[in-house]
Amino acid sequence: MTAVEERRTATSVLVIGTGAAGLRAAIGLAELGVQVLCIGKRRRDDAHTVLASGGINAALGTMDPEDSWEQHAADTLREGHWLGNPVSVELLCREAPRAIDDLVRWGARLAREDDGRLSQRYFGAHRWRRTCFAGDYTGREIQLTLARRAAEVGVELRDDVYVTRLLVHEGRVFGAYGFDVDGGSRWLIVADAVVLAAGGHTRIWRRSSSRRDENTGDAMRLAAEVGCRLRDMELVQFHPTGMVHPEESAGTLVTEAVRGEGGILRNAAGERFMERYDPERLELSARDRVALANYTEIAEGRGTEHGGVLLDISHLERELILSRLPRMYRQFVDLAMLDITQTPMEVAPTAHYSMGGIHVHPETHATDVEGLYAVGECATGVHGANRLGGNSLAECLVFGRIVGAEAARWSTELGVQVRDRDAIDTARQELDGLLSGRGEEFARPLQRAVRDLMSECCGVVRSEGGLRDGLARLEEVAGRAERLEVRPDIAGYADLAHAFDLQGSLLAARATLDCALERRETRGAHNRADFPDEDPKLQVNLVWNLGGTVTHDAVPSPSSADFSVELDLDSPDRLLE
Ligand SMILES: Cc1cc2nc3c(=O)[nH]c(=O)nc-3n(C[C@H](O)[C@H](O)[C@H](O)COP(=O)(O)OP(=O)(O)OC[C@H]3O[C@@H](n4cnc5c(N)ncnc54)[C@H](O)[C@@H]3O)c2cc1C
Repeated sequence: MTAVEERRTATSVLVIGTGAAGLRAAIGLAELGVQVLCIGKRRRDDAHTVLASGGINAALGTMDPEDSWEQHAADTLREGHWLGNPVSVELLCREAPRAIDDLVRWGARLAREDDGRLSQRYFGAHRWRRTCFAGDYTGREIQLTLARRAAEVGVELRDDVYVTRLLVHEGRVFGAYGFDVDGGSRWLIVADAVVLAAGGHTRIWRRSSSRRDENTGDAMRLAAEVGCRLRDMELVQFHPTGMVHPEESAGTLVTEAVRGEGGILRNAAGERFMERYDPERLELSARDRVALANYTEIAEGRGTEHGGVLLDISHLERELILSRLPRMYRQFVDLAMLDITQTPMEVAPTAHYSMGGIHVHPETHATDVEGLYAVGECATGVHGANRLGGNSLAECLVFGRIVGAEAARWSTELGVQVRDRDAIDTARQELDGLLSGRGEEFARPLQRAVRDLMSECCGVVRSEGGLRDGLARLEEVAGRAERLEVRPDIAGYADLAHAFDLQGSLLAARATLDCALERRETRGAHNRADFPDEDPKLQVNLVWNLGGTVTHDAVPSPSSADFSVELDLDSPDRLLE
């Protein structure tokens, strides 16, 4: 093999991920005067965060003065079916207003009322209007604002580095290893502390609201392989309506606003099936109930040719659809060449959000490895068994700031750091091994096999038999993945990136299946056909390690009396992501 260039650099704190969580952490570090390098594997203005549409939560009380951080916390804990960590939830809700202040100060154009107050709207299961937004482009506005601020405060940013391994010596992180996705040169980055903000694992299902090559479980693999535990990996939110056709767009989100505006769900026989599942609220039923209804219709053979159900809005005035749902109209024209003012959309549940992820300390987001922190969708603690819409952007910003401060403190106080040559060699050999692979298997089809088995064996509804079948199929795919052909070409190193994406997906899938098997109950987003009820004994977090062991961790009780506010409130039927 020809010698490959290895570029070396050192920084105080390395942040892996240029989405909302990573950028927020990096800004905090730079503002504290700490040297920071922030890296990502795709364009900085196109991290997954740009897809977020509906909004970001903070109990500002601009529309409903009765609102409070305590009520926000109560709503979050209840909707999470009591698996969220109360300490993390309290921090999220107390600090979210400050996160909005930061955004506004840095120039984010959030919607305002005529008198200048920030507008806030309802999101599902929130007691009051507390969701700030920028049209239905909130994620994009936040991403651009953070990227601009990061540049202003001098964050060094690279969006062409794929991290393949964290470098750890005796339980303490000292950097990361990776490669340049365009040119293939290697990167050895030495750092006092590392912040992992590399997203979730929802792309391991066939229908996913993530785009290609994002949320492939990289963060979970990077962390677990150096000794971090993962938690509640089975808890994945399925959105009821993702696109079904054409195949390459399968999973792309169809906003709940379609149902909010009067969209009707029908099966292939033309039956308005929500009359059977929730005769009162029909299509305006809660997100998990509609997802389950759509899933059941399809699974029981009443689905459409492409395996979906029909969502019809064509009975509304064309002008109304164009003014209320412009983004959806454009999406179906562009992706499916379909006019939703004339023709029903085919939809099915789509994997949308990872509630589980890397095990972190509830306040500091420190992981099991010293000097390593995790934040954003890759971390866990806030959402329990079901995420409230609008809470994840808030989580990225609140804990991004906290993690920045913690990593700065770690870096400043660090006395001695050992750089372990063996750890670096292992990372180099891992890359060499893949590049010299001349097997008969390719990463993309195997990735597809993982997505198929996760959809068939660990989708909206799970059972012991299906999950065991999934584990057996996964083992077979993992065996084939050892015989990969990886062949970078003149167009770049995408082939190598796909090989590592596959490794992330295999690990995330195994952890998800193991935990889903262990959670023998139905709770929040986790439906077990063989255990249809919530089991009070399983009001625990499931903690997984690389050895495949799953242990039960008690969830601390809310210590603050404030959490008792309005806990018994029925979820209001208000839609929007
Ligand atoms: C369609 C849609 C709508 C949504 N709407 C909302 C909403 O209205 N409100 C809300 O609160 N949430 C919403 N969400 C969820 C929210 O967008 C995400 O949870 C959040 O943006 C995650 O941000 P993050 O910073 O953790 O990760 P991401 O934005 O996913 O960023 C991950 C970063 O890690 C990098 N990375 C990954 N792997 C590697 C690697 N191996 N090497 C180097 N870099 C790597 C990526 O390049 C990227 O920069 C929505 C999600 C979707 C899909």
